[in-house]
Formats: sequence, C-alpha cells, structure tokens
Amino acid sequence: MTHAPRYPHIFEPLDLGFTTLKNRLLMGSMHTGLEDRVWDYDRLAAYFAERAKGGVGLIVTGGIAPNRRGSLAPLASKLTNRWEVQRHRKVTEAVHANDGRICMQILHAGRYAYHPFSVAPSAIKAPINPFKPKALSSKGVEKQIRDFVRCAKLAQAAGYDGVEVMGSEGYFINQFLVPRTNHRTDEWGGSFENRMKLPVEIVRRIRAAVGREFIIIYRLSMLDMLADGNNREEVVELGRAVESAGATIINTGIGWHETRIPTIATSVPRAAFTWVTRMMRDAIDIPLVTTNRINMPDTAEAVLARGDADMISMARPFLADPDWAVKAAEDRADEINTCIGCNQACLDHVFENRKASCLVNPIAARETEIVITQTDAPKRVAVIGGGMAGLSAATTAAKRGHQVTLYEASDRIGGQFNMALRIPGKEEFIETIRYFSRQIELTGVELKLNSKLSAGELARQRFDEVIIATGVKPRIPGIPGEDRPNVLSYAEVLAGNAEVGKKVAVIGAGGIGFDVSEYLLHDDVPLQPDPDDVSVEDFFAEWGVDMDFRTRGGVEGVEPKRHEPARQIWMTQRKTSKPGKGLGKTTGWIHRTTLKNHGVKMLSGVDYRKIDDQGLHITVKDKEGNETRQVLEVDTIVLCTGQVSENALFDALKDAGQSVHIIGGAKLAAELDAKRAIEDGVRVAVEI
Ligand code: NAP
Ligand code: SF4
Repeated sequence: MTHAPRYPHIFEPLDLGFTTLKNRLLMGSMHTGLEDRVWDYDRLAAYFAERAKGGVGLIVTGGIAPNRRGSLAPLASKLTNRWEVQRHRKVTEAVHANDGRICMQILHAGRYAYHPFSVAPSAIKAPINPFKPKALSSKGVEKQIRDFVRCAKLAQAAGYDGVEVMGSEGYFINQFLVPRTNHRTDEWGGSFENRMKLPVEIVRRIRAAVGREFIIIYRLSMLDMLADGNNREEVVELGRAVESAGATIINTGIGWHETRIPTIATSVPRAAFTWVTRMMRDAIDIPLVTTNRINMPDTAEAVLARGDADMISMARPFLADPDWAVKAAEDRADEINTCIGCNQACLDHVFENRKASCLVNPIAARETEIVITQTDAPKRVAVIGGGMAGLSAATTAAKRGHQVTLYEASDRIGGQFNMALRIPGKEEFIETIRYFSRQIELTGVELKLNSKLSAGELARQRFDEVIIATGVKPRIPGIPGEDRPNVLSYAEVLAGNAEVGKKVAVIGAGGIGFDVSEYLLHDDVPLQPDPDDVSVEDFFAEWGVDMDFRTRGGVEGVEPKRHEPARQIWMTQRKTSKPGKGLGKTTGWIHRTTLKNHGVKMLSGVDYRKIDDQGLHITVKDKEGNETRQVLEVDTIVLCTGQVSENALFDALKDAGQSVHIIGGAKLAAELDAKRAIEDGVRVAVEI
C-alpha cells in the first residue's frame, strides 16, 4: 500500500510499546450474527479477511460473552471453553494471513441480555428489555470477573492479538458505574470508587493473566446521555484508573442502548462526538480511540490532525467498503463506497435476529455466497434505468467484463436517491450517487442520459441481455378532488420548485410520508446538500446535550432548543396502527420523535372523503370504532401514498423473445427500499 501524503495522520503507524499498528484505523466491534453459530465461522473468517486485506490497522470482533448468563440472547456467542477456541482460530488465522490484527471483544450484556437468566448489579429491568435481571451476590460479582479473565485467556489461546473489554453502551460493566442501575450497598456499589471497581478489577486481572504483550482495549462510556449518567470527572477518573490497571488503548463509547438521543443514525452530523474523546486527552497517556459517524478519510484525517484522538474507530464504513483503508492510502477516496448511516441492512437486521449485511454493499458478510468473478463470455448488456437497482446491476456486470450500456430517461443517475438526499438528516445519500458515478467511469459502463428507449428500439440493438430497472412511480390514491392544483405528489415537493403553503396535510405515513414531513418542517433546504455542512452545535442543541459536559450524562437538566417548524403539518394513514410502525427498528423512533417534537399531528384510522376549497375532509375511526368527521383546513396536500412499478417494457421485450431480467421497484414496488434494489442489481449481474 502506498501512503498518500493527503492523509498523513491516518497512515502514521501507532507504537504500542510491544507492537506497532500500521495505521490509525480501527474496525469497531459490530455484531453480524455470524458469531453465534459454529457453522458460520468460515463465513465470518472470510468477512474479516477481506477487511484485513483492505488495510485496516486493527479489527475488533462482534461481542463474545464470557459466560452463558452474559450472552446477548439464548445460544448467542460465548467463549468459555477450549472447544470453542477452535472456531475462533479460523478467524485469527484468516486475518493474520492477510497481514491484519484482530482483538476479540468481550461483551457481558448484564440486564440487556434477552433471556430470563440475566444478571446485573441490581434487579432493575431495562426499559428496552422484558426480562428482569437477577442481582448478583458479592460472590457472583467475583465469578463474573473470573469469567472475563478466562475469556481473555481463551481469546489469547485462539490467536487474537488482544481483547476489547466492553464497558459502554449500557452493558454489564456500564450498569455498575451509575446509580441508576447500581443500588448495591456492598463494596461494588455506593461511592464512585466502589462502582468503578468492577472494570478496574477486570482490566487488572486480565493483564495479570495474559502478560505484557497482549492488547487490552477498554471501551469506556464517555458520555452516557442519560439523566443520571456519569459526570465528566468520573469519566476521567475511570480512564486514569483503567490505564493504571493495564489497558493498552481506551476506546470511546457514546450513549446507552436505552438513550433516546441519536448516536449513529445518518442524521447525526459527521464526527459529532469526537469532542467527547478529546476531553480525556490531557488526563490519559495511552492511545485514545474516537468513534461515531466518521465515514470518510477527510473527516478522519481532520479529527486526528486537530488532536481529538490517536485512532479512529469505524464499524459500518468497513462493512460498506472493505477496501476503505487502501483506497484512502492510494488517494482514491472518491472510489469509497460510503456508509450512509442508514442502519437498514446492518443494525436493523441484527435487532431483528437476522444476519447483518450492508445496504450499499450487499456482499458484506456474504463474501462466500456472492462472488464477483470475471466472465469468460463477455456479453452486450443493456440496463434500463439509472436508479439504485440499475446502477448496481450495470457496474457489477461491467466489473465482470461485460460490455454494458446504461440508459437513463432523466438527466441524472440516482433515481429515488436524488429525492432522499434532500431530506434534512439524509445528506449522506449523495455519497452513494458519487460512488456509482465514479464506478461508471472506472468500469467503463457507457452511460446514456435523457434516453427513454421503446421496446422496438431496444430489440433492434440486439443486446444479449436486457435488465429492466425502471423503478417506480407515485401511486395516485383516487381521492375526489386530488386533481386540484394544491394537491402535489411527494416527487413534486422534493424537486423543490412547487409552492407549499403553511398548513399541510401529508397523506400516507410510510417512509416517504415521514421524509416529506421532515422536509416541510424546514425552509430553504439546499438542492445539493453537503454532509460536511451539517451543524454539530445545532444537532446537540436540538437534542438537549451539553457540549461542555457540565451536567450528569451530558444531558441532566439541559433543555432542548428546537428550531421553529416552517409549517403546521398533519400526517394521515388509513391503518389504525401507530404511524411509522414499518420504519427501521433502530431509526424509526428518531423519525417519530423528531416529527412529534416539531408539532406534527399524526392521525391513524383515517378515511379520505374529498378535497375541496376548505381542505381535506376525513373521517377518523378510533380504537372503539367510533367515527368522527373532520376537515383539515390546509393550503396544500401532499400525496405520499406509496408507489407502483414502472414495468411496461418488460412484457413487450419478453414477447419479442429478448433475454430480459427485471429488478428493484420495477419488479415489485411494495416494500421497496434501496437495500432490495441494490441487492437485486448485484445478484442479477453475477448470474448473467
Ligand atoms: P409505504 O411505506 O408503502 O407507505 C405508503 C403509505 O401510503 C402508507 O402509509 C399507506 O398507509 C398509504 N397508502 C397506500 N395506498 C394508499 C391509498 N390508495 N390511499 C391512501 N393512502 C394509501 O411507501 P412509501 O412511504 O412511499 O415508501 C416506499 C419505500 O421507500 C418504503 O417501503 C421504504 O422502504 C422506503 N423508504 C424508507 C425510508 C426509511 O426511512 N427507511 C424512507 C423513505 C422511503 P395506509 O394504507 O394505512 O393509508
Ligand atoms: Fe452503513 Fe447502511 Fe451499510 Fe449499515 S447498511 S453499513 S448504515 S450503509
């Protein structure tokens, strides 16, 4: 790997005393679901090997429990005996064979464990878990420490370069640190000195057991973002104590899983939390790692250059692009497939008990299943439609050696992403369009914009394969009066040139209804947003976080300063369920909270009667079945009523005997998202 002068701080080696890391990039811990079953370890090894090959300095695995009670779920991964060591060797050997380094994260879930055998400092149920933990006896605490030590020794035997002790995000160790979850009266509770004894003892005894030349990362909850979380002095004191106890590196943890402030969603500005790590710098001598929403080399370099930390941790960005490091090193940052922070294929999958992958890179964690090989029979391929499905099909097929022409009816590629990127908080989506534009150049796809071909024209060109990726068009719901000039489609609104009044009814509460409502809460949304322009200060003010950390958890008693909504909005749906129920598991609450905080009224069980001069006439049915007639006196009505497929070309070509495939929204509009579109594109391209 050549080292680009552009990112000198990222590629400066890091001397740990007994070993040197080749750069300042740490692949942060993220559960993929492959850790839990012995038969998935070949897949897990291939996944990590690919990231090691891509040049990341140090990898941390997903969390592995030190005992059964501490595991995240029944039958979730643990490392408690020498038989389990064998499977881990596959991982360490694969990483070392590719010149990588890897630490295993030891994660004890405490009261976050999703099973009835959980243990915690006190028997206090977490708000996000139905299972109440059992309070540990003093002897029980000692046993947990011994299990951490045993787990670290087994990790060493498995060939790991070190361990990360998970002390943040509200898991077991974190639960000892704050009075909210620690009501103990023995030596493990009460004063902060007692409460922090558990992590200090764990680190001290692991160090004694593994010797000097083994990395111990301690992941420290530096900003709990809970009303009775640790204060700044306690966080610094714990950092010092963990350093003295023998930690090699301190990593940053932000928030607990029960925190109701976004920490990693796409709406969090880039590098928003590095000031938290910086606060430790004067107190700590060992290397500090910073984290959360750092996804591109310019951002990472700036964070290191201004001295906020010694290393950058990124988890999802390495799912999105295993070659992130090598591309940055070779000054090819414009080729990086950027993590857009959507959580749709990674964390949302994990929380639904499915295996993680990545929306922009469906090969992630499926390296043994989806393999892009060079074709020995290059074909002439036409891809119709330059949205996400078409872009991924065209560029993947061209990578394989096919000769690809991509036809797009409009004047730009990106399809629905051109609308998504205009939503405040979704600025990152512009990166995926940049990535595919560059891939088109690199792979030699012939791009024809403003080209809407008929079936006859396509047939005459005699392509070997045609891939229809013509996407979707808005569904027209058929409400009397919907043809009035003040009734707009979401596409017209997001194009930015339609007149929208001050009182608006948004019909439809799916992903797009939520997005459009968010958009309409703001004035002057830029046509081409820049993710680097999103204000960190405004973000923390809106969510009530004190960036000077003068208050417990950074939030206690801090009043959020919300922006004045640009409009009064009603959002409606026919279903009687909670609006936004179908949104992503890890992000839906953020969208619902943001809209509610800005006065958006959400109505379920709505029947649409008509639209006239007065506004939108509806009948609302409550849970008991009582109906009330209402008129929403609005100036503008926006239809966000789902989509229907644009697929007319497919049948015509099939009838003409053309070898033709259909993918993405053109194939199925219901529950379409970019995840399915991009995956469809890759899968069809590896098959032709
Ligand atoms: P959607 O999620 O299917 O929502 C369509 C909405 O329109 C529903 O609220 C539905 O509710 C309503 N509707 C459907 N037919 C109607 C009719 N004939 N008359 C009146 N109302 C009708 O579709 P979408 O919002 O257009 O989103 C499309 C896809 O884009 C989503 O599936 C999503 O995956 C993706 N997306 C995701 C996000 C995200 O944040 N993850 C954001 C934007 C888009 P009722 O039937 O109850 O009225
Ligand atoms: Fe990033 Fe979304 Fe991929 Fe997760 S699914 S790694 S958040 S782009």
